[in-house]
Formats: sequence, C-alpha cells, structure tokens
Amino acid sequence: MKKILVTGATGQIGVELTQTLRDKYGAENVVATGHDRQQTNELTQVGPYCHLDVRDASALNQIVEDYQCDSIFHLASLLSVVAEAKPLEAWDINMNGLINVLEIARTHRCAVFFPSSIGAFGPETPGFDTPQDTLQRPKTLYGITKVSGELLCDYYYHRYGVDTRGLRYPGLISNKALPGGGTTDYAVDIFYAAIKNQHYDCFLRADTQLDMMYMSDAIAAAIKLMEADSACLKHRNAFNITAMSFTPEQLAAEIQKQLPDFTVSYSVDPVRQAIADSWPRHMDDNAARAEWGWQAQYDLTAMVKDMLEQITVSEQRIKGDDHVAR
Ligand code: NAD
Repeated sequence: MKKILVTGATGQIGVELTQTLRDKYGAENVVATGHDRQQTNELTQVGPYCHLDVRDASALNQIVEDYQCDSIFHLASLLSVVAEAKPLEAWDINMNGLINVLEIARTHRCAVFFPSSIGAFGPETPGFDTPQDTLQRPKTLYGITKVSGELLCDYYYHRYGVDTRGLRYPGLISNKALPGGGTTDYAVDIFYAAIKNQHYDCFLRADTQLDMMYMSDAIAAAIKLMEADSACLKHRNAFNITAMSFTPEQLAAEIQKQLPDFTVSYSVDPVRQAIADSWPRHMDDNAARAEWGWQAQYDLTAMVKDMLEQITVSEQRIKGDDHVAR
C-alpha cells in the first residue's frame, strides 16, 4: 500500500483508521474522503481531504486518478439502525457505493478493504462459536447489504483478480468519534453517561450478549489483513474476528468496579433489541488467527480501564477550554 484512499473517513472507524494509516504511511499518502459538508478538524488539515458521495462514480474515479491510489479502505455506509429507518437509501449507499469502488479498483488495479459485520448473520446462524463458513440469512437490510457485499467482493476477486479483503467486525468501542447509528452503540454511550451523569438508561436488555472489540484492535486488524501475504489467505470476504463478548449487565459491572456509584436502568427499544437478538453472541475467529495471525490486545477489563481514562481526560480538556473561553 503506497497511496491509500479512505471512504467514510469522518465516521467512527474512519477518523482513527485515517490517523493510523497517516502515521504509518505518511500523511500525504492517505487521502481521506467524507460525505459531511463541514469538516474543519485534523482530518482535513493534516493530509489530503476530498468531499465525496460514494454513489458518484466519476468523482470517485477522479480522486483515484488524481492521487494515483493503489488501495481503497471502503468504510462509507449506513449502519444497522439507520438502515432499518431508511432501507432504500441504505441499499443505494451500501451497494451502489461498493460496486463503484469495486469497478474503479478493477480498472485501476487497486486493493480493496471492505468491512462486513456480525450483522451479516441471522437468527438461523449458530449463535455461539459462529463458524467462519456458515448459514447467512440476515433479516435486516443492513445485514443483507453486508452479505451481498461479501459476495460481490469475492466475485471481483475470482472473476477479475481484484485484491479484495474483508473483516466481519463485531460492535466497536471507541472514544474519538461517536458511533453512527448501530445496534451496539450502547457500549460507547454508557461510558459518557457513566462519567457525566453516573447513570445510563440502556436500550438493550440486560442479558443481551454480543461480540465486541476496542477500536485500536479493529484498526490494527484491518491494516494487518491488508498487509498479509495473499498466498496465505484461503478466505477473503470476510473473516470473523472478535476480542470479547459481554452483556450490558456485565459491562456495567466492570464500569462499577471503577465508578462504584454508577447505576443502569433498562428501557428496551424493540427495533434495536430485535436486531441484536438476530446476531451471534460469539464468533469463532480461528480462520483469521490461522491465515494472517489475528490476535486481539484488549479484553473487557483493559478496554473499560482505557475508555474511562481517555474520556475523563477529554471531558476535562473540554471543561478547561470552556473555562478559558469564558
Ligand atoms: P459511521 O456511521 O460512523 O461512518 C460511516 C461514514 O460513511 C460516515 O462518515 C458518513 O458520513 C459516511 N457516508 C454515509 N453516506 C455516504 C455517502 N453516500 N457517501 C460517502 N460517505 C457516506 O460508521 P463506522 O462505524 O465508521 O463504520 C464504517 C464501516 O464499518 C461500515 O461499513 C460499517 O458497516 C462497518 N462496521 C462498523 C461497526 C461498528 O461497530 N462501528 C461494526 C461492524 C461493521
């Protein structure tokens, strides 16, 4: 990877992935693209930044040509909860955006990273130790676009030799950019609520167990997979990966070890609960371990400790800035 394009660079994954890629490959070699009109943060100031709607194939093509990109991390998407609210728009962005990326990758010989999700599984999939190769009949529009995306990426690899690679991410937990409307967003929101209000009202049931991962592991996995020796990859789209698997109740208990006054209540949102109930509780990620050496660094305890430290520091900085401004 010498010249990299990131779509959806302003999102929860994109902000941290772009920063890590720029640190590793040089800021000038990582072109961030975003759909949001107003971007005045580090992303636009530190390296190249272009406005892009991924449905606009000619604009995407122009950026790839202008910057001579050889790799595309395609993150632009609508997530599970938003996609259920706007299914036609989600189909348009998730599928037409991906086919544009794959066609341009075919003509310009780019490698493509495509993030799939635990949402690519459905209620008939084995829910525990979910195998790498198994039944995938998701019941959400988001999940349907993820399975279709996995298949399309494999198609472009087998038919045209495009170097496509992907991961089935679990719920991702981070503290730089807020999540964009997923079913696992509670696992981020709970930290901000714990620090600001000592209380969180959770939209999933207390015993809803799901796979999760800290963002630094998610970013490291994407880069490690894209750098892996192609000859070692038997699977491509997409590898199961996980780092931890917990319920809201277990996460709250871990937070309470450090913030004993923290309390949780539960007001279950039926839409998000139904989505969560259709997803696996724990994936088997042995194929990723065997084929390209996947290994998570953060477990539940380490993740909670780091989240609380990072958010406390950033909240103090915000309060300090407010004080100076006044
Ligand atoms: P996010 O919602 O935070 O970011 C998505 C980005 O896509 C946003 O910056 C948004 O502006 C952009 N976007 C939306 N419509 C666009 C369009 N028409 N053209 C260009 N950009 C557009 O999502 P994220 O959490 O960063 O997820 C990135 C990818 O990872 C997605 O494909 C998502 O399905 C996948 N994923 C995320 C998680 C998670 O927990 N965050 C888990 C599994 C898979």
